[in-house]
Amino acid sequence: MQDEATTRLTRAERRTVLVAAASPVALALLVLLPVGAMLGVGFGEVVAATLVYGGLLGLAAAFVTVDRLQARRCPRCRRRGERGEARCAACDYDRVEQPRFACDERHAIHLDDVALCDCGRRLKPLPPVRGVGREVAVALKLGAWLLVLLVGIGLALRLLERGL
Ligand SMILES: [Zn+2]
Ligand SMILES: [Zn+2]
Repeated sequence: MQDEATTRLTRAERRTVLVAAASPVALALLVLLPVGAMLGVGFGEVVAATLVYGGLLGLAAAFVTVDRLQARRCPRCRRRGERGEARCAACDYDRVEQPRFACDERHAIHLDDVALCDCGRRLKPLPPVRGVGREVAVALKLGAWLLVLLVGIGLALRLLERGL
């Protein structure tokens, strides 16, 4: 596969991913600490909840970040493009349609219509690639809402318990 080289991130990009992964954990702790204190929940429980919810959100956030960073790279010349550029400034590759070609046996993915695969079969255009970013971003938002909902339910239950 041609993807091996494109998946490698630079050091700065890896740092961005790390920040994206860590910030939901910090955020979860910030949200859960006062809530936990209010409910009289033990510190250990708060930390456990933080790791579970923040960790899951952090994983998803890191996943989206990696996908976005890779999407900004030209698949043909590896140049890092601007967000939303229509054509690669270096090699003129169509960044919107991202044409790809392969023979029926999928021996290799070609980014140019070079007519023939190494095996001699004719190349055919492949369906366009779509990043996973949008779907995961929606899932991420749902996860955040779920966290809010769970905390809300927990709060309501505790208040009910206390009222009885
Ligand atoms: Zn290019
Ligand atoms: Zn082939």
